Amino acid sequence: MSRSDLIPLLEELSNVGGPSGFEDPVRKIVERELADLVDFQTTDGLGSSISVLSAPQSDTKVLLSAHMDELGLMIKRITPEGYLKFHPLGGWLAQAVIGQRWMVRTRSGDIPAITGIKTVHVMDQNERSQVFKMEQMFLDIGAESADDAINRLGVRPGDPVYPDTKFVKFAGGNRLIGKAWDDRVGVAIMIEVLKQLKDRRLGVSVIGAATVQEEVGLRGAQTAGFVADADIAINLESGVAADYPGITLDEAQEELGAGPSIFFHDSSMLPNTRFRDFVVSIAERESIPIQFNVLSGYGQDGSAVQRTRAGVPVVNIAVPTRYLHSHQGVVDIRDIAECVRLVTKVVTELTETVIKDISSFS
Ligand SMILES: [Zn+2]
Repeated sequence: MSRSDLIPLLEELSNVGGPSGFEDPVRKIVERELADLVDFQTTDGLGSSISVLSAPQSDTKVLLSAHMDELGLMIKRITPEGYLKFHPLGGWLAQAVIGQRWMVRTRSGDIPAITGIKTVHVMDQNERSQVFKMEQMFLDIGAESADDAINRLGVRPGDPVYPDTKFVKFAGGNRLIGKAWDDRVGVAIMIEVLKQLKDRRLGVSVIGAATVQEEVGLRGAQTAGFVADADIAINLESGVAADYPGITLDEAQEELGAGPSIFFHDSSMLPNTRFRDFVVSIAERESIPIQFNVLSGYGQDGSAVQRTRAGVPVVNIAVPTRYLHSHQGVVDIRDIAECVRLVTKVVTELTETVIKDISSFS
């Protein structure tokens, strides 16, 4: 696998629209990519996609999880003039929502929309310095009335909305601009690791779970984690890069181009320490660059998997990402390739004995 081999899948996964609860188009891509190489595919009751490379001689299971959903909006009501009021799906900063392009998924297809804002020409000094609240915002879909929005354009309350952002490479080649790196980058890595492992005849089963509804409360990971019933798990995420103006190393410690990161702390999870040390020692031995992150906030699916049944050893491994939860994020293809290499190596070395040792507290 060369780095450029990863680009077409990353581009497709970044461009596809799939806000929380509306992940179907993403799941179709995951299922298509994995159908021919895994032993079986299923879904949990919420729609998470579960693909299994099974080892018939063993009951031991390793889970790789990544969430399919991205931040979006949901139509709440249609004004008499034909504008759409909305509810956020996931943790948007209000300033990141204003003045953007979107796509509304209606029953008759996806249609463009923008979040407009009152023109500066008519604002007084107070208004010019104010931060606009989400409740003040609306979508303009070019409708001339509520009737036009409903009957000609097919919009209904409950329709999902996602950012209209097209994947593009920065000049220079390694850095990629796109929406939804959180967490399509993790989904791409999960798919690629399963492809790498396909012909290796591991002694344990490997399960890839592409989960739903992470951004609204780690919901799919809870149900997918139950279905997987794994002995150990790696969650794959979009990390928090702190290498641009205005963010400090006390807030996050990753930078682009310095390899995948392993989380030592976030507000949702403390990783299993033996598993954490196992991953770091493999990275050091294999000369795979690795970064560490101690975050005070954040939440990720690994924490839901960790608490399934009697508890599961979990680590969260992430690709440093700039500008999370906005229309445009930036990742570095070298970090993605190194993350594939690291996770493939770690899974390859997770024998029944190693997993037993990591899971033991004696
Ligand atoms: Zn995420």
